[in-house]
Amino acid sequence: MGTARELLQKKLRTLHSPEMPIWLYQAESLPNRNFITDSEKELIDLVRKYGEFSKADLVTYTDYSRTKITSCIDSLLNKKIIIGNNATEYTGGRRSKTFSLNGDLGLVAGVDIGATSVDLGIADFTGKLLVRYSEPASVRNGPIKILGQACSLLEKMLKENNLSSEKLNGIGIGVPGPVDFSAGTLVSPPIMPGWDRYPIIQTVQQWFPSANVVVDNDVNVMALGEIYQGAGKGVDNLIFVKIGTGIGAGIICEGKIYRGSSGCAGDIGHIEVNKSGPLCHCGNKGCLEAVTAGPAIAERSLIGAKEGKSPILLRLYEKNGNTLRAGDVGDAAREGDALAVEVIRESGQFIGDVLAGLVNFYNPRVIVIGGGVSNLGNLLLSSIRQTVLKRSTPLATRNLHIVFSEIGPDAGVIGAVNLAMDYMFTITSGNGERD
Ligand SMILES: [Zn+2]
Repeated sequence: MGTARELLQKKLRTLHSPEMPIWLYQAESLPNRNFITDSEKELIDLVRKYGEFSKADLVTYTDYSRTKITSCIDSLLNKKIIIGNNATEYTGGRRSKTFSLNGDLGLVAGVDIGATSVDLGIADFTGKLLVRYSEPASVRNGPIKILGQACSLLEKMLKENNLSSEKLNGIGIGVPGPVDFSAGTLVSPPIMPGWDRYPIIQTVQQWFPSANVVVDNDVNVMALGEIYQGAGKGVDNLIFVKIGTGIGAGIICEGKIYRGSSGCAGDIGHIEVNKSGPLCHCGNKGCLEAVTAGPAIAERSLIGAKEGKSPILLRLYEKNGNTLRAGDVGDAAREGDALAVEVIRESGQFIGDVLAGLVNFYNPRVIVIGGGVSNLGNLLLSSIRQTVLKRSTPLATRNLHIVFSEIGPDAGVIGAVNLAMDYMFTITSGNGERD
């Protein structure tokens, strides 16, 4: 029991905001959270995105006064979240003292569970990856096996690199299916038998009791990786599009992941692009994913190759034991194969059509294209760009950049590290520290 005010605050906390999942409120007793204020979080975000900052920089990039910045810096120094770096001399005067995140505050792991692999990384508190590892793993083997594999790999990575598991404060996990973020579970994932509502967080915490565990959809996680350390560094409104065996988008709105009311915002793979197109696994015809994801690109190319339109692709198909991958189509296009070039150009147009709709609707600053199919190269990117420019309003495209991911295969791991860090730098609720 508590005072009336405490009871009211407790009640308010149960009326969760979309940014703060229910289990996080329930998890206030969890270790290693850094309770900070809104303005302190804003400064930490800037330092996470841009690295070192001087007091003057922080005044310039925020709406806060110098006095306010000074008190925030003092508080963050006291909590050992940031450290001050010695002022350095340079010709022309004295450079002012800078501040950066305290990398020694702890360790954070990023786990990117894909359909056929698990990627892991361990970073310090500046977000810098110290160790990186990848291993084949099929999500179809179910959560007990895959989470067990991921956790024992993490244990091994810590041990082999002389890193203490007690210092592992956070673990971010990206999974390839729809996630109920407030519960930290997958909901009816199409390619993942046994994962529906499986308690991922609790399972991982049995291995690492001192770690805060956060779970989100893989594409949301990648989008986060892009704004903290990738092609969208510091961008507030961004769309990350993953084109691989499926197609999905992660939306960053005002610097935060936008999940929508049920957590499935950005599921653009099932937007119809061709009424008479091939059947999609969702039961509809002509979905973007069924027309332009990796398997569809390979399939369309193979049909053409068998009709005699591409000797190169037919040769690759026979050489690979009667299979053709989207990557082969990229290779053939680089050799100037007309069919491969046409398939890639056409795929870029379908993707561009959908993105043009998103640009008109959402007006992002940057669209980052990632996933395996981005290996198809600049031909795909230029086809997407041309279509978007043609079909979007001039104002929406004036400052728009459409680029490939800069962190590529690391986007999931880096994003998962940042997902966990986002949680560990959470704002305290209702104890008077909020400003
Ligand atoms: Zn579909």
